[in-house]
Amino acid sequence: MYSCISCSKHYCDTGKTDNLPGGCPGLETDVIEKSKELYSELENMNLARSAAVVEAVGYCKLTRLEETMEFAKKCGFKKLGVAFCIGLAKEASVLLSVLKHNGFEVESAVCKNGSIPKEFLGLSEYEKVEPGSFEPMCNPIGQALFMNKAGTELNIIFGLCVGHDSLFMKYSEAPVTVLVAKDRVLAHNPMGAIYQASGYYKSKLYK
Ligand code: SF4
Repeated sequence: MYSCISCSKHYCDTGKTDNLPGGCPGLETDVIEKSKELYSELENMNLARSAAVVEAVGYCKLTRLEETMEFAKKCGFKKLGVAFCIGLAKEASVLLSVLKHNGFEVESAVCKNGSIPKEFLGLSEYEKVEPGSFEPMCNPIGQALFMNKAGTELNIIFGLCVGHDSLFMKYSEAPVTVLVAKDRVLAHNPMGAIYQASGYYKSKLYK
């Protein structure tokens, strides 16, 4: 239905919208108008304007961490939530130190909160990382509920597993941004697989 990925023209990026190709979302002006209407909501306008300003100010100058703090400041957010993976506990404490130094109040919840055994999800021993041992499940819904209860204004995902991040985003009341996308193989740099898709990773990705 929508095929921007297959479009080589990118007319939307030039403002020349007379010649839009089939499958172009830009042809559906009713949806575009609806999206514009939604920006008039105060929270959406604040997020969108702040993101656009940070994009310009930080362009090729600020790291994602710096941009995240700039974005929070531009939005007027003081209280940040960090939903982090227990495997990145050391790195999360560095993040905490940086955020605090920059004047933010920080609430944080680890993925394993509640220590709920994976059996709760109906997993068998052989579906565990290490069969035969106690393994608590990740509890991203809990992470979101704790951040909601603490009244955070912006939540930062810091290395949650794929899918656990989806649940966190589903239940977070505050807007969510991702600082770290977990990739245990590529040092949390998922783009490594994309850059290698026609090279060393070809046989892994096109089985
Ligand atoms: S919005 Fe239209 S012009 Fe832009 S990339 Fe998608 S298909 Fe191409």
